[in-house]
Amino acid sequence: MSEDQQKTYDLFVIGGGINGAAIACDAAARGLRVGLSEMQDFAEGTSSRSSKLIHGGLRYLETYDFKLVRDALIEREILMRRTPHLVWPLRLVLPYVASQRPRWMIRLGLLFYDYLAHRKVLKRSEAIDLHKHPAGGALKNDYRHAFAYSDCRGDDARLVIANLLGAKRGGADIWARHRFVTAARDGELWRITLEKVSDGGQVTLQSRALVNAAGPWVVDVAGRMKVPVGRKLRLVRGSHIVVPRQWEGEHGYFLQTQDGRLMEAFPYERDFTSIGTTDEPWEDAPEKVAISDQEIDYMLAEVNGFLRKPVTRADIVWSYSGVRPLFETGGGRDGDLSTLTRDYSFEIDHGQGQAPVLTVFGGKLTTHRRLAEHAMQKLCAVMPWPANSPSRTDILPGGDVGPAGIEAYRNSFKQRFPWLPETQADRYVQQFGARAEEMLNGAGNLADLGPLIGADLHQREVDYLMDTEWARTVEDIIWRRSKLGLRLSPVEIGRLAAYLKDRPTLPQSS
Ligand SMILES: Cc1cc2nc3c(=O)[nH]c(=O)nc-3n(C[C@H](O)[C@H](O)[C@H](O)COP(=O)(O)OP(=O)(O)OC[C@H]3O[C@@H](n4cnc5c(N)ncnc54)[C@H](O)[C@@H]3O)c2cc1C
Repeated sequence: MSEDQQKTYDLFVIGGGINGAAIACDAAARGLRVGLSEMQDFAEGTSSRSSKLIHGGLRYLETYDFKLVRDALIEREILMRRTPHLVWPLRLVLPYVASQRPRWMIRLGLLFYDYLAHRKVLKRSEAIDLHKHPAGGALKNDYRHAFAYSDCRGDDARLVIANLLGAKRGGADIWARHRFVTAARDGELWRITLEKVSDGGQVTLQSRALVNAAGPWVVDVAGRMKVPVGRKLRLVRGSHIVVPRQWEGEHGYFLQTQDGRLMEAFPYERDFTSIGTTDEPWEDAPEKVAISDQEIDYMLAEVNGFLRKPVTRADIVWSYSGVRPLFETGGGRDGDLSTLTRDYSFEIDHGQGQAPVLTVFGGKLTTHRRLAEHAMQKLCAVMPWPANSPSRTDILPGGDVGPAGIEAYRNSFKQRFPWLPETQADRYVQQFGARAEEMLNGAGNLADLGPLIGADLHQREVDYLMDTEWARTVEDIIWRRSKLGLRLSPVEIGRLAAYLKDRPTLPQSS
């Protein structure tokens, strides 16, 4: 089956993770004709499997990645304005451990962190006495001194959707569940073939430029368009465990592990605690990544070195793993994967009169907007495109919560929908931002939201996710568009599956 689309894009992006989505969003906002293809669900690659920190990365000061830290720190407050419902402040507490980094070093590192940050909203760092501070309550008595500092938390998979919605607002075509198969240059054009994952049907398109944002699959995709890759990619697995909430308060902990690494534990989805992550080499296909028993033992042992009330294997309600697509630059400590740079870089392949392709290597969730702006600068150097990115000031769909900010919006939302249970209203605002009202679409009571599927998931929300956010499967809905998988029982998940099976869907590209 072959479907020839006579469409010619200015830019076609391969990969619907955070970096591909952000580039498509930036390019569409400049008025370019943009297409994007993703072979799985959006964010199903690395971008739903991160630690979900929007952070400068205190640990990267140790590898002298000062530029990355500064750029990432500045992004925090930009993203808080651009997607205020999906990025919010997190106060982290770093206990001092006598056998690890000296106190003066941590203090100095944090002063530098504050200095690099250009903070307007986030609080500066401070030394705290855990025997007097509430954050000490969850920790063993052995820990007395600590430092509290600011970073942010975010919802990685929903940031991807927000960027895709931004791209779509700018007129982009989003080719959901279409695998990029091959592309060949024809002078100033790329001739592109996609495969519809559901039935193997082929679609051919054209574009003046390509972006390879396939994350861990970047080398495979480059091979499919016969573009050489001049660097060695290292896949590094990172895993997380999620357990019931372990302490009161909204702060997280940044813990020094016995092997000199740093590990986070923070409140997750209101009733849970997330613990992670690890840094393990991964040699197999990215899609096969899974947590190992050793990683679980490691994380439990390390976190229990600090927590007063130990966490056990039986407490684990969910775990997930991802692979970081990192590349070697010779900067890190020998053999220590945690010290390989997390910064991004690009290669651009183009010749006289030849259509260009930009390949994206690495990058962090935190720096996606900046990476996109930078990627477009590279392409604008060889294409006659508008040079300025509007992304520093643009607000993404859902982020338009008004000048008073997200808290004021949340309060007014609750007043306008008093019939919604408070936790459900909170979830809607965090998940959809101002789009929550579009989803509710005139509903005046819970019955208007249609049958209850389970937890606080009603049919209305499922329909909205399928009609406006490209959701198709149970996993899309309960693990990437939301984290309701933590709350739904197997029977309720079965009910959702039955509903999806019978429900008609929209076409796969929109
Ligand atoms: C354990 C872990 C913890 C992390 N923690 C943080 C953190 O706290 N903060 C932070 O800032 N960053 C963090 N990161 C980094 C961050 O998650 C990644 O840098 C980011 O998600 C990479 O996004 P991406 O778009 O490059 O790749 P991906 O999200 O993997 O997207 C690439 C996409 O390309 C698609 N694709 C591949 N081949 C094809 C094809 N042939 N056709 C169509 N589509 C294709 C894939 O399906 C995939 O969806 C973490 C990463 C890991 C693994």
